[in-house]
Amino acid sequence: MIKSINPYNQETVYESAELESQDIKNAIDAADLQYKLWREVPFSERSILMKDVGQELRKNAREYAQIITEEMGKPITQSLAEIEKCAALCDFYATHASEMLTDKIIETEAHKSYVSYEPIGVVLAIMPWNYPFWQVMRFAVPALMAGNVGILKHASNVMKCAMSIEKIFEKAGFPKGCFTNLPIGSKKVEEIIRNPKVKAVTLTGSEAAGRVVAAVAGNEIKKTVLELGGSNALVVFADCNLEQTVKTCVQARFQNAGQSCIAGKRLLVESSIAEEFTKAFLEGVKSLRHGDPLSEETTIGTMARVDLAEELEKQLQQTLEKGAVVLLGGKRDKAYFEPTVIGNVTPDMSIFKEEIFGPVIGITTFKNEEEAVELSNSSPFGLGVTIFTEDFEKATRLVPKFDEGAVFVNELVKSDQRLPFGGTKNSGYGRELSQDGIQEFVNKKTVYIN
Ligand code: NDP
Repeated sequence: MIKSINPYNQETVYESAELESQDIKNAIDAADLQYKLWREVPFSERSILMKDVGQELRKNAREYAQIITEEMGKPITQSLAEIEKCAALCDFYATHASEMLTDKIIETEAHKSYVSYEPIGVVLAIMPWNYPFWQVMRFAVPALMAGNVGILKHASNVMKCAMSIEKIFEKAGFPKGCFTNLPIGSKKVEEIIRNPKVKAVTLTGSEAAGRVVAAVAGNEIKKTVLELGGSNALVVFADCNLEQTVKTCVQARFQNAGQSCIAGKRLLVESSIAEEFTKAFLEGVKSLRHGDPLSEETTIGTMARVDLAEELEKQLQQTLEKGAVVLLGGKRDKAYFEPTVIGNVTPDMSIFKEEIFGPVIGITTFKNEEEAVELSNSSPFGLGVTIFTEDFEKATRLVPKFDEGAVFVNELVKSDQRLPFGGTKNSGYGRELSQDGIQEFVNKKTVYIN
């Protein structure tokens, strides 16, 4: 059995039996059969169904949001925002998929030459628990609009979300087999990747899981998109708008209890304003409210699992042993971790070097632009960075110096369906969302007619 435990009260939310190998094979066969029909369905019909998925999400937003909150502890207001974001994604690709995949004419000596964008078949998605609807929809919506079919191995602690998403697609009228949830643990993933009917794999999760999955897929010569961890810096220059910067930094680190790949995880502050900034930042963090995640008043929830909170505690301990100091918080109670701010952080400490997937942030100071860029780039991850400055010319000059998948100025790094999303270095490769995302799992076919 696979179980979801509510991290706020430790009650069992959902249990499902794990599929056996034969069940998995049957599900893949059915998905592959459906693919042969689905790829022939015109964009106009796919769009109607996808808009219906968006409508279903909006109509029953509260029900779906509550499942998210109960399975992984996120405050209900944030779960509702996640559902709305998924619905907007459905509208976006329902409207734009066709133009994004229109043949591209390229003039050559031929009578006609062009690139066509054709689906590839069954795509496996291995997804995490931190945005249990959004991460799945971010893959499924463009993949299905492109004419592929999707099979999902969701994280073991959010299987009720996984089952609900499958039902939403069915309810909207998608033929059975277009989107299939496989309730399985991670040990069953290798046989799925090796199944010849599975053509590609996308994974969002830890670096460790990414390495294992990409190695098997590489061995099978199957394409992968990897969206792994991050350790984004929040680079605060002395010429920033302090009040707005503090607000954005608190949100960037503490929303979703810090469990986001693109959260701001390292605060780099110009030394001349370090004292003033730290004081204001601590006040901002103190204003977060913990409580029942189903209450609209709660702004910071528990972490998704007790073991994740224990791991965070270890990383914090190692950091303190190296000379960092607790400025706020620092304590854990089961899956709840107090919003925590650490001072005197240097690059050799766990909190700086590793991904910190929870409500803890360290402050490191820098003296000038060069040092700020060097500190930011010294992370093995490369998802994104935010720089805070009122000097537009300086911001534009610094952008190319950061080796990240995204640079945001005066705004937290966030995903937006109109913009590509993905990382460099150990954060993975490939892009999701926008035109880049929908073109990841297509055959870009060259056609030459003489
Ligand atoms: P994992 O990377 O272990 O889980 C993510 C997904 O990958 C889950 O569906 C999981 O399944 C699956 N998975 C894990 N190991 C394998 C494997 N060897 N082969 C195939 N699939 C696998 O994340 P955790 O839940 O353990 O969280 C640990 C850390 O990962 C976090 O602290 C954070 O640093 C990072 N993380 C990053 C995320 C991001 O958005 N980039 C999201 C979640 C975690 P199952 O649940 O059954 O193990």
